[in-house]
Amino acid sequence: MTRQQIKPFRGGIRRPFSRRREHRPDRSAESVLAAVNVEAFYMEALGNLAGHGDWRTAKCVFHDDAHASLRINVQHGGFACMTCGAKGGSVARFIMKRDDMGFANALRLLEGLA
Ligand SMILES: [Zn+2]
Repeated sequence: MTRQQIKPFRGGIRRPFSRRREHRPDRSAESVLAAVNVEAFYMEALGNLAGHGDWRTAKCVFHDDAHASLRINVQHGGFACMTCGAKGGSVARFIMKRDDMGFANALRLLEGLA
């Protein structure tokens, strides 16, 4: 067992192939992400967003949040929690973390919303 545990993936640190090929996009990741209404997406996912300008705050869904610790940038979709440290640079990263899915499936979900 020990030997198997230290054996790396055939593809080094990359993910296994099946996970990388689950999505055959008609559109590039950039165009899918660009089509998303970031503010509407986060309002749907998090409820009320406080603040204005480029940044909003909301209750974090990645830990049991009593305050609004999660900061969201409604321009590029990035998010960061000041309490639990959850962060990412796009709505796709948010979905990946929240729903524990790969980037391709997160994009597929976003395509369905667009
Ligand atoms: Zn958090």
